[in-house]
Amino acid sequence: MMNVPFYSLDYVNRTLGDALRESFSDVLDSKWFIRGSRCAAFEEAFAAYCGKKACVGVGNGLDALTLMLKASIQLGRLQPGDEVIVPANTFVATVLAVRAAGLVPVLVEPNPETCVLDASRLTDACSARTRAVLVVHLYGRLSDMPAICEFAKAKGLLVFEDAAQSHGASSSERSGGDPYGSVLQMTNDANAKSAAAAYSFYPTKNLGAMGDGGAVVTDDLELAQVVKSLGNYGSVEKYVNQYVGVNSRLDEIQAAVLLAKLPHLDSWNARRQEIAARYCAEIKNPLVRVTPVPANPKSHVWHVFPVFCDTRDDLQKFLKERGVETLIHYPIPPHLQEAFDGALSRGELRYGPLPIAEELARTELSIPMGPAMTDEQVSYVIEVINSYKA
Ligand SMILES: *Cc1c(COP(=O)(O)O)cnc(C)c1O
Repeated sequence: MMNVPFYSLDYVNRTLGDALRESFSDVLDSKWFIRGSRCAAFEEAFAAYCGKKACVGVGNGLDALTLMLKASIQLGRLQPGDEVIVPANTFVATVLAVRAAGLVPVLVEPNPETCVLDASRLTDACSARTRAVLVVHLYGRLSDMPAICEFAKAKGLLVFEDAAQSHGASSSERSGGDPYGSVLQMTNDANAKSAAAAYSFYPTKNLGAMGDGGAVVTDDLELAQVVKSLGNYGSVEKYVNQYVGVNSRLDEIQAAVLLAKLPHLDSWNARRQEIAARYCAEIKNPLVRVTPVPANPKSHVWHVFPVFCDTRDDLQKFLKERGVETLIHYPIPPHLQEAFDGALSRGELRYGPLPIAEELARTELSIPMGPAMTDEQVSYVIEVINSYKA
């Protein structure tokens, strides 16, 4: 029997150990811990990596989502109470952010194959109060941005991205030139652009800090400025407050860690893509369904590798007994969380029947994935899954 952890940070810590220790001592020696040169350098590097004009570091992914929406309200592009379309199959933070900004989430079913927002359902989801779509590139898979953005443009809706699971996912081939190439979402297609994307650097994300961290990435310098101000008490100039802001900043230690890790993100994602390609080709069990590799393999960075099984809990136990660690993303969909009891009747949330999202929550199991996995571990996971019988 082999032990295969769900995700191992050991490998990253081992390969980058010295660089990370150097980052810590640089910050220590600088005697500057908040809003210093490390944060500014990371913001610049990550904006360049994403092929965008601006990046604003904030405290975490939930804040990145919330501040991106609040800044849009501050600039008059959204009004409190406006509806925002959100995929029903997502981590609860996406929905919490929309509520925290005083907006109304409208939950829409995923495509059962790709598990991300189904663009063909947008028309039915819209009401006269719908003003934006917040897509989630769940599991690391880019949503169908051309279709979603085309729809949004026709309807006059804003598009935002929850990119907390999709660092480095790219719709286009690299153009070369700058150190990171021109990557990410829709940089080459002006008609398929979002207003802004929110990132989380929670330690286990594809690009993770050593604590909490997040960022808003955008081509809109005005929006970036307001996000930055909102995350700093609503102040641009010290002790002068323009907005009712919060305290949400990316600290120097986290920024230094992220700066050390960013140059490795592409190779880590490439390893994830390699593993996913093997899982997709070699998992052959009629009881276990996988999501397909997209036509452009770079558009999926496999933050998690989901499989679907009617007897999910039994499969999880079977794998555990054979040393394979798994997790469920997510056992309870946002609309069934106790936190949202009564939200529908109070008009704080809007949705119709969501059988697909509920089915995914009932059957999803995330199997081991990450740059640390060896070929032997991948083979073992495949072998164990293929030997599963109900
Ligand atoms: C992790 C995550 C978030 C929240 O990020 P935090 O940094 O933990 O606040 C939001 N949305 C999605 C899809 C996530 O996976």
